[in-house]
This record gives sequence, C-alpha cells and structure tokens, in this order.
Amino acid sequence: MSDERITIAHGHGGLASHRLISDAFLSVYTSPELEQLDDAAVMRLPYERIAFSTDSFVVQPIFFPGGDIGKLAVAGTVNDVSVMGARPLVISVGFILEEGLLISDLEKIVQSMATECRRAGVRIATGDTKVVPKGAADKIFINTTGIGIRRKDVTLSGSNAKPGQAVILTGPAGDHGAAIVCARNDLKVSGEVLSDCRSLTDLIDDILDASGQSVSVMRDPTRGGVATTLNEISKASAVGIEIDEESVPIRDNTRAVSEILGFDPLYLANEGAILVFCDEEAVDIVLGVCSAHPSGEHAARIGTVRNDVDGKVVLRTATGGRRIMDMLAGEMLPRIC
Ligand code: MG
Repeated sequence: MSDERITIAHGHGGLASHRLISDAFLSVYTSPELEQLDDAAVMRLPYERIAFSTDSFVVQPIFFPGGDIGKLAVAGTVNDVSVMGARPLVISVGFILEEGLLISDLEKIVQSMATECRRAGVRIATGDTKVVPKGAADKIFINTTGIGIRRKDVTLSGSNAKPGQAVILTGPAGDHGAAIVCARNDLKVSGEVLSDCRSLTDLIDDILDASGQSVSVMRDPTRGGVATTLNEISKASAVGIEIDEESVPIRDNTRAVSEILGFDPLYLANEGAILVFCDEEAVDIVLGVCSAHPSGEHAARIGTVRNDVDGKVVLRTATGGRRIMDMLAGEMLPRIC
C-alpha cells in the first residue's frame, strides 16, 4: 500500500481503518498490550512511583536532517519521563493524519518510531488514529504519552536547584532548532546541520547510577532552548543562575545558522541534550559519564547556581560583561517540535 495516500475512509473505523492499523502499525509495533486490540491496555505496574508525561508533535517539515516527526515523538516523551529519574516502560501513540498523506511517508515514520522505541527500551502499548480532511491538519500530527517507573534513589525536580551547584549541559546548544530552520529555509552552510533528536534514557540512567543524590535537577531544553529552561528552573527553585558564555558548547554550523538568521543559539531548541544540576563534588563524575557516552561527548559545565543574582539567569560574556538572559518572549520558531 506504499504508493497509496491516506483517505477519509482510513479514519472511518471500517475495513480501510482496520487494514491501515494492521498493515501500517501492528506489523511494526510488537507489544503484548497492543496486540490485544482492546479499548485500553492492561498492564501490571507494581511500583509506587510512576512518572507520566504527554506531548503533541506538529513539527514542520516532518522529515528533517537527523530525524523525523516519529523519532521526535518517541524521543521527546521518553526524555521527559527519563529526566524525572524514571525508566520509561510504555508509551501511547495518537496519530492525526491529513487526507492525502502518502502512506509511504507514514510507513517511514512508523518504522522510525519502532527503531527509537527499541533504542529507548519502551513498548507502544496503546494507540489511536484519526483522519481529517485535506487542509484540516498538516500531513501528520502525533501525540505520545509515556509511563515510567521512577527510581527510588532520586528526588529530581525543577524546584530543587541549590546555590553552589554546577550546571552541566550534556550536548551542544540549539542543534534541533538550527536543523529545523535550515530544512525550512533550504539554507546551506558548510556542513549539514543535524538535529540532536534522540532518546537519552541510557545517558540519564548512567548519570544517576554514578552520582545518585548529588544530582537534583534534570531538564531537557526543548522549546525556548537552554536560556528559557534555565529561567524555568531559576524561578521554580528561587535561585539565580550564572552562565559562562564561552563554556557553552555550540557547534560551528549552529552558530553560523544563528548568525545568518539573527537567532541566539541559547534560545534554539535541543531534543537530545539535557541540563543537569549537581553538587560541585559530582561535576567530574557527571562529565566523565557523559564523555564515555556517544550522546554526551560534548558535555560541559556551563555555569553555577547563585544566591546573589536575585532570582535571575545572568550570562557572563566572553568580554567580561554581564547581561540578563530572559525567558523567550513570544514564539521565535513555531512548530519546532
Ligand atoms: Mg521537557
């Protein structure tokens, strides 16, 4: 059915819907819960602490260098569960398909979701598909919800940053945002700009295994980038954060794209890097774990939590100046994820 397109009949719940579900989804996603095709997945979760997160993905274009909307939908939800110190177990997938979508495009996206699920160690336990008339959506929108089992040894939260702690960024800032703007504007720089989109379950697990209680905050700087996420944490924890501009890892290509289009890379989204707040004595341990991991090889300490900068995020610039880095105002790039 690869050269066919999505028709309204695929969303009517009849024969065409059943064929789509069995050919496009069930043959790719293998999970005991999904195969039952009941109205809800039934599973045993004999644990006290569950992390539960949902996110919708409307990224445009749906295929971009380094990923696609499907990989992003799995990685985005898996990472939101993981940064709370939970091991993602199952996810749900809701598709909204626009009439006319190429079924071969849907198949690529479904395959890429299956690959990312395997990488992250999660199963798709339940799902839904709706088809809307041409023009009522843009090709494909995906909602994913994830459930994970929280580790017993963590108390991670955006409100747990403490003065004196170090701020570590596990990968170069802004790569996802830069890749999307390049793809959207057909912009060429010297090398390809790849999105960092990926599940970080393993990296996060390794960091928590090695440093346990000395990590108190983990968050993925997605929409609004590193600058906005740091503002969220500084507000939630009622602390100031000082960032050393020169120490923030930024790829040359991301910097070049940002300069051409007038963006600050610290406000461009990441989809495969996290901010880690840890005690000073754990900095070398966390950086050591990151450097041994393919998703963390560019990790760097980028700043320090302070109690003397008045609840603000302050950037110490290369020339020794200091300026306040506010939360992103308005939307710089719509439909980034
Ligand atoms: Mg998040």
